[in-house]
Amino acid sequence: MEKFNKNLKLKNFIDGEWVEADTTEYEPVYNPATGEVLAQVPHSTKDDVEKAVKVAKKAFKTWSKVSVPKRAKILFKYQQLLVEHQEELGKLVTLENGKSLKEGIAEVGRGIENVEYAAGVPSLMMGDSLSTIATDVEAANYRYPIGVVGGITPFNFPMMVPCWMFPMAIATGNTFVLKPSEKTPLTSRRLVELFMEAGLPAGVLNIVNGAVDVVNGLLENSGIKAISFVGSEKVGEYVYKKGSENLKRVQALTGAKNHTIVLDDADIDAAVKGIISSSFGSAGERCMATSVLVLQNGIADKFMAKFIQAAKDIKIGNGLDKDVFLGPVIRDGNKQRTLNYVKKGLEEGARLVLDESEQGPKEGYFVGPTIFEDVTTDMQIWKDEMFAPVLSVIRVDTLPEAVATANASELANGACIFTDSASSVRYFRENIDAGMLGINLGVPAPIAVFPFSGWKNSFFGTLHVNGKDGVDFYTHKKVVTARYDQKRFK
Ligand code: NAD
Repeated sequence: MEKFNKNLKLKNFIDGEWVEADTTEYEPVYNPATGEVLAQVPHSTKDDVEKAVKVAKKAFKTWSKVSVPKRAKILFKYQQLLVEHQEELGKLVTLENGKSLKEGIAEVGRGIENVEYAAGVPSLMMGDSLSTIATDVEAANYRYPIGVVGGITPFNFPMMVPCWMFPMAIATGNTFVLKPSEKTPLTSRRLVELFMEAGLPAGVLNIVNGAVDVVNGLLENSGIKAISFVGSEKVGEYVYKKGSENLKRVQALTGAKNHTIVLDDADIDAAVKGIISSSFGSAGERCMATSVLVLQNGIADKFMAKFIQAAKDIKIGNGLDKDVFLGPVIRDGNKQRTLNYVKKGLEEGARLVLDESEQGPKEGYFVGPTIFEDVTTDMQIWKDEMFAPVLSVIRVDTLPEAVATANASELANGACIFTDSASSVRYFRENIDAGMLGINLGVPAPIAVFPFSGWKNSFFGTLHVNGKDGVDFYTHKKVVTARYDQKRFK
C-alpha cells in the first residue's frame, strides 16, 4: 500500500489524469486511530467542478454509445481487479475510517457485490415489449442513460457507498463526477485507478475532492442531470431540495435511528451476538446500527446481564491490530459530541448501566461501548442520531408497545426483531414504519440486488440506490409505438 504523509496534497481526477485543485485551501486527512495526518485534501472550487462536468459531458457522447455488453466486460475486469486488491483496499478503509480490518475487508466485499450486480447490465437494461396493442401495432420501451451524474458520499463507508453509485451509473452508460467525503478520500482514489486499469475510458469517472463548495457546485451545475447523495439528515434534505429546485433527479439517503426489539421468546445468545455487532461494530458509525434496544420485560434482566458482559469483553483499539473489534470514531469533534450526549443523557434522567465512553488508547478518537437504560422518547438521546457506540434501552410489556416506540421516530432506515414467533414477525413486518427489516439478525443491510430503502426522514426521493431502483434512477425510457401494416401479405 502507498505510504501517506502530512505533506501529500491530494489531487482531483479529471479526464483520466490527476490534476491539482484550483485552491490554496486544504484540510488534513487523519488516521482516527492515531491522530496522524495521512494527507491534505483540497477544498476544490465550483470552477473545478465545472472542469470535471465539461469533461464528463464530452465523455458521455461516446461512452453512452459503447455497446452495453462491452461496458459490462469492463465491469467484469474491474470486479477481478477489486477482488485481487481486496485486502489492500480493506487496509485503506481501516486506515482512513478506523473500523476493524475485518470490517474493512468485509466492506470492500460489499462494494464488490455492487460491481457484480452492475456487470449484469445487459439484462438489467432490457426493455419490455408487447407485440400487438392494436391491429398491426406494437409497442416497446428502450432504456437510455441520462447524462452526467454527481455523487456525494459520507465518511463511514469509503468503499461501499461510492460503489452504490458509480458502477451502476457507469454501466448504464452515464458519466460520473464523484465527491468523496473529505474525511475519507483515499479509498476513492484507489477505486478510480483500478477502474482505469480495467479499461474505463478517460472522462467517464472523475473525482473532485472537497466539501460544501463542491456539493453546491454539483447542485447548481446545469450539466449534471442527477445527484446521488448519502449522508446526514439535514444535509440530505438540503441536497434534495436544492437539487430538485435545479430540476435534477435526486436520491438522498440520510440519517438513522434504528430500533431492535427483543421479545420474551427470543434466543438470548443469538440476540446478544447480533446486537453487540450492530450497536458497537464500526464504532456505531453505521446507518444500520442498532441505536435503540427495545426489550420485552420478561427477558430484559437476563438479556441485559449477558449483554453488558459481552460489551465489557469488547476489545477496543487500532483496527489494524489483531482481534480489535471496536476502533475509533472518525474525528475528535465526533468524540467530544458523543461525550456531551452522555452528559445530556444523565441530565435527562437516563441511567448509565455501562460507561466505557472514555476507554481506549489516548492518542486516537476512541469511545468505548456505553449503554443507557430508562430512556424515554422525550429525551434528546433517543431523538438524535449520535452515530457512536452508545445504546439506549427501553423496556416494554408488549410487541405493539415496542413497535409504537420505534414508529415515534422521524428516522426510519432499519428495524430488527428477535423472536421465535411467526405471528410476532408478521405483526412487526406489517406495522413497523421502516424500510429495511431484520428478523433474528443484527444488521439487515440488503445485498446489492435489493434497494437500500430507508423510509421517512432517512430518505428523500423516490428511487433508492441498488436493485432495480438503481437501474431506474440512472436511466430513462423511450416507448416506441409502431404500426407495420400487414395488408399486403393477405
Ligand atoms: P455528512 O452529511 O456530514 O456528509 C456527507 C457529505 O455531504 C460529505 O461528502 C460532505 O462533504 C457533504 N456535506 C457536509 N456538510 C455539508 C453542507 N453543509 N452542505 C453541503 N454538503 C455538505 O455525513 P457524514 O458525517 O459524512 O456521514 C454520516 C451520516 O451519513 C450519518 O447521518 C449516517 O446515518 C448517514 N448515512 C446514511 C446512509 C443511508 O443509507 N441512509 C448510509 C451511510 C451513511
